[in-house]
Amino acid sequence: MESVSRQTGLPVAVVEQIYEPIRKEKEAAAAVASAERSMWQAENRILREQRPCPLCRTGHAESFDSDVYIASGVRKKNGKRGGFWCHPYYCECSNRRCIARNLYPSDSEVEALERFLAGDFLHKNDFIDSQDGTRYGYTKYGDEQLLVDLLREWSPEQVKRLGADPQLVDTLALQRTLDRMGSKSVDVFDTTLLCPKCGMRGEYRKAVNPQTHAKTWWRVGCPHCKTRTRNAFPYKKWAGQAFETGDLNRTIEWYKQSADAHN
Ligand SMILES: [Zn+2]
Ligand SMILES: [Zn+2]
Ligand SMILES: [Zn+2]
Repeated sequence: MESVSRQTGLPVAVVEQIYEPIRKEKEAAAAVASAERSMWQAENRILREQRPCPLCRTGHAESFDSDVYIASGVRKKNGKRGGFWCHPYYCECSNRRCIARNLYPSDSEVEALERFLAGDFLHKNDFIDSQDGTRYGYTKYGDEQLLVDLLREWSPEQVKRLGADPQLVDTLALQRTLDRMGSKSVDVFDTTLLCPKCGMRGEYRKAVNPQTHAKTWWRVGCPHCKTRTRNAFPYKKWAGQAFETGDLNRTIEWYKQSADAHN
């Protein structure tokens, strides 16, 4: 109390009057917060026991549902498109760092929970028109789009944990990368001059011909990590091969010998 009085410059009697109720209120608030916290922890523990996430060690199933308007669904019966209201049920892991979730809608909360707990994350189900019960399915494009959406946030390895076809996931992930790279994508499969140390692209550099001292020879170096061929070569191709194979100490003699061996 005296220290508060010293810090504020107010008389102790005044501080007692003002400060004491504030202190008590703060104590009470802290007690409530800690009680709420332990209640929340206890609740989470119970939920974890009752409905454990199949993919992680801390999360539990959390179901959710809502009214959704789908502007362009494909009717199962005749393949025709149309807009409709529906009420799908889903389930996901309470652990935000866990990918576990139902990708397709369920008809009820019980169904959504059952599928989640069984790790049946890709169980296919239709959307049902809330008005007349018409069933709408996913197209093959729609199926792939679900995975593409996940790949925006999660790695291909994570997406595979949901049970998606690994080859399809890899293909979609690669496509996504290529799309994002646009015209640069042509370069992806070009392994010319890739640096043996860091994988970035190296470049040809003019080097001195030891006989003439003119810069007519070649070396290859990586502008990113400074890795380079120790020796210069009369041909670009020789420098490039030494660099790409990581044989950075290769000499001109090496090429001459291997040429002899082939003759
Ligand atoms: Zn989880
Ligand atoms: Zn299933
Ligand atoms: Zn490099």
